[in-house]
Amino acid sequence: MKADIPADHPRRGSLLAREAIADGVDSGLVDRTGLIAHGRGEAFDYLLGEATPPPAMMAIDAAAASLLLAERPVISVNGNTAVLSGKALASLSRAHRIPLEVNIFHRTEERMARLVRFMEDFNPHRVLGLDADATIPGLAQPRSRCSSDGIFASDVVLVPLEDGDRAQALVSMGKTVVTVDLNPLSRTARMASITIVDNVVRAIPAVHERMDALSLEEAEEVLGSFVNEDNLAASLLYIEERLRALSGKR
Ligand code: ATP
Ligand code: MG
Repeated sequence: MKADIPADHPRRGSLLAREAIADGVDSGLVDRTGLIAHGRGEAFDYLLGEATPPPAMMAIDAAAASLLLAERPVISVNGNTAVLSGKALASLSRAHRIPLEVNIFHRTEERMARLVRFMEDFNPHRVLGLDADATIPGLAQPRSRCSSDGIFASDVVLVPLEDGDRAQALVSMGKTVVTVDLNPLSRTARMASITIVDNVVRAIPAVHERMDALSLEEAEEVLGSFVNEDNLAASLLYIEERLRALSGKR
């Protein structure tokens, strides 16, 4: 399939991501509703110009800082995230010894097993998820299930492309919730402690790079000056300015 997309196609990246999600549905890694979630993300990425906007760079710094300063960080991985950023997440996990936890909205044991195997093939530090022996208070089964060793015990949780309800429930547990969500208006974006308004494909390698670069002292400083509400407002204003410029009527 990849061979059908010309190397110089202006929308190559976007088309490859689409292929990855569609192939993920065929191979049982992605639930079919993942196609819809991806489409919503694509629309917002178009508004951003398919590039990391300046406010997202600040949120990426804050995300890196909070993962560096965490005592028990964990990264939650769902189907879309796995097929789009599995390799990059495994590399971050390995380098910074952060466990991954496969945790999915439409939970079936079969898809869980497939995703755990898929992620293990990238050689991360650890993959949790099959041993989902704890529950997140305030959510119905099976969405509340998580690992007592992973999300349940974590202080900082990176949950890209998360549902609003779950993000809220994790915040209510007192966790620092870091998310990647192209939609600055989603409930997840609004609920999270740190929201990176960017494509997960660009954001994960960027977080990894900043984690390699920041000292603990710098990380404290970055976190001390980050306000998620202000950062979300800056993302919305960035889109507004971009649309004004594109309209030719600014
Ligand atoms: P919420 O429940 O938070 O209000 P939602 O119901 O609109 O959000 P979900 O389907 O729960 O959306 O979650 C998918 C979210 O992930 C959407 O906000 C979508 O914009 C975002 N998204 C999809 N693909 C990507 C991607 N590649 N990178 C970053 N964000 C993405
Ligand atoms: Mg939702």
